[in-house]
Amino acid sequence: MPIIEGIVKFRQEDFEKEKEFFQGLKEGQKPHTFYVGCSDSRVVPNLITKTLPGELFVVRNIANVVPPADKNEGTLKCTASILEYAVKYLEVKNIVVCGHSNCGGLKALFYPQEKLEKLPLVKNWLRLIEDLKEKVKDIEDEKLREWEIEQLNVVRQLQNLLTYDFVKERVEDGRLNLLGWYYIIESGEVFNYNFETKEFELIN
Ligand SMILES: [Zn+2]
Repeated sequence: MPIIEGIVKFRQEDFEKEKEFFQGLKEGQKPHTFYVGCSDSRVVPNLITKTLPGELFVVRNIANVVPPADKNEGTLKCTASILEYAVKYLEVKNIVVCGHSNCGGLKALFYPQEKLEKLPLVKNWLRLIEDLKEKVKDIEDEKLREWEIEQLNVVRQLQNLLTYDFVKERVEDGRLNLLGWYYIIESGEVFNYNFETKEFELIN
């Protein structure tokens, strides 16, 4: 649908139908979950979690990355500032890092250098995760390698979250719950990272 038409239709149809609900949101938000996802247009946070406006505080970027606390300079600060706000001010109960299949951000790690030179800002961003390539270098099957690096990337971002003291202390005392998800575009399935077995398990 053309985007302008969508705006009008939303107001006239959806908003009207749920007017009381939307108006009830006017005084403030109390989201229960901070969702870190990929900017990919096919993975829509509220859609795949069936959550409503007011429930998810969201940051999306290329390959759902959380820059670690010690690499937090320049443009990388953007995601971290949103994290700080979500945890310390909004006091969310959960942080979800959601990766997905067929992620262009992770594929880009394998592009020839000259292709990435044309995207210097993206290249800089991807430096945060380029070492993951090394971990999958022995996997020959391309599809398997893709899935593996996408899942490793989710685990890496969970680790990066814990480099922030304000996250670590809340996780340790139980105020904050970390979740690592992997969404499969073609099946709609979401796999959840089990911190004990270190495996992704289908959420069912
Ligand atoms: Zn992606």
